[in-house]
Amino acid sequence: MRQGDTLYIDGEWTAADRGGTFPVTDPANGTEIGRAADAGRAETERAIAAAQAAFPGWSGRTAYERAAVLDTAHRLMTEQCEELAQLMTREQGKSLKAARNEVKYAADFLSWFAEEAKRVYGATLPSNRAGHRFFVLRQPLGVVSAITPWNYPVSMITRKVAPAIAAGCTMVLKPAEQTPLCAVAVFEILAEAGLPAGVANLVTTGRPAEVGEPLVTSPAVRKLTFTGSTQVGKLLAGQAAGDMKRLSMELGGHAPFVVFDDADPVHAAKGAALVKFLNTGQACICPNRIYVHRSIMDPFAAALVDRVKRLKIGRGDGGCDIGPLVDEAALAKVQRQVADATAKGARLLVGGERVLDEGLAQGQFFAPTVLADVDSTMTIYREETFGPVAALIPFDDEAEAIELANDTEYGLASYVYTKDLARALRFAEALQFGIVGVNDINPTAAAAPFGGVGVSGLGREGGAQGIDEYLDVKLVGISI
Ligand code: NAP
Repeated sequence: MRQGDTLYIDGEWTAADRGGTFPVTDPANGTEIGRAADAGRAETERAIAAAQAAFPGWSGRTAYERAAVLDTAHRLMTEQCEELAQLMTREQGKSLKAARNEVKYAADFLSWFAEEAKRVYGATLPSNRAGHRFFVLRQPLGVVSAITPWNYPVSMITRKVAPAIAAGCTMVLKPAEQTPLCAVAVFEILAEAGLPAGVANLVTTGRPAEVGEPLVTSPAVRKLTFTGSTQVGKLLAGQAAGDMKRLSMELGGHAPFVVFDDADPVHAAKGAALVKFLNTGQACICPNRIYVHRSIMDPFAAALVDRVKRLKIGRGDGGCDIGPLVDEAALAKVQRQVADATAKGARLLVGGERVLDEGLAQGQFFAPTVLADVDSTMTIYREETFGPVAALIPFDDEAEAIELANDTEYGLASYVYTKDLARALRFAEALQFGIVGVNDINPTAAAAPFGGVGVSGLGREGGAQGIDEYLDVKLVGISI
């Protein structure tokens, strides 16, 4: 694998114009693990021009040729799973087991969209006039800009790159500045798989606003696909509105996790722990509000606390469950939310503080935490936590539970635990979220549409819907 200090533009690995680089650190101890090329506006404009020049050739290839490149990339990523996972653990901090799972999930998008490339069907429609025909064509929409976050640094890239190039689009991708090395490794795989020059270009940078501006406003770019915070998503969507670019926005979440009194509280607590502490709480689908029927709150809380006490905190390569938070700002946010909740009456059942044990003091480790008696006056009730803090809130009946669950401007993931099938269906239909897990904490797969409503975003990634985001629909009317 490359060291990471190069951009990938028009099929060439190149340094940033003035040779600038920025440090990449291990979040578990703050040490520098490499450097990444620090692109600016000029390099980004060249990358967009390369994508524009490559578009006619790439979109003119058959779907089978495009699929073949994706199939090869899938094979290479699968073969390099261990190397990629090790890099991800060093750069992002998640456990090796979780990193291996992520690489497999990321590779799934390559093979899924290799197949979907061959299913970009059009249609013929009955016309209301004799001597007239309608055809509907679906065509690649052109050059795409992609901006990705650090928390899933490989799969968030393939979830965009695979459908874009399967559809026949060309693109420029800017990864998060915390995880550029994973992005370089993914692009090495694409290059080795035989992707022609200019089809996918990579600009790493420590100057997101400078690079973001041409990515989001260049007239050559027809679409922006963004995964990240709602705050930055809103800013970029505003910038992209100037010339009505197509948008896909995968933004923040504030997932409710509702446990009814007919559910097994121990089983539900196991599910809650697994999905709450996934990636140390740094996943957009992590529950932020855990609503438990008052009659089973005690056994649920006891089972959750018991599990939390058994979670191992430490470096991702040491077989640990809880890794570091990504940076100081993330740690400060978690500390602020816990202090605010306890000051307003929440009870701390376990955790609640930074971990400064030997070997961990240089990283941003926060003990997995359970807070009881959380209510709507507390910051954690509204603001995405993105850290290992479980907030428990009691409820008394189904009508109240649905009202509470929907009491958010976010709308990404949601969860309900119940053994009552009718209630499960009522709930799944009433929840105003893009994703509902019914007794299920992993309602995601490359074959399934992922995305949110409200301020959680626009569009869907994965599934049959994922490729639509990169296609324009064209109507052809023909008089004969
Ligand atoms: P973020 O701060 O919004 O950053 C996301 C990306 O946007 C990074 O590449 C960042 O670059 C870039 N960026 C920031 N300001 C920019 C600007 N002015 N112009 C252009 N690009 C800009 O989010 P994050 O902290 O990386 O990720 C965590 C968030 O992502 C959470 O809210 C989480 O819920 C959400 N997320 C959502 C999904 C989903 O599928 N819905 C999946 C994963 C994560 P820099 O790194 O250089 O700042």
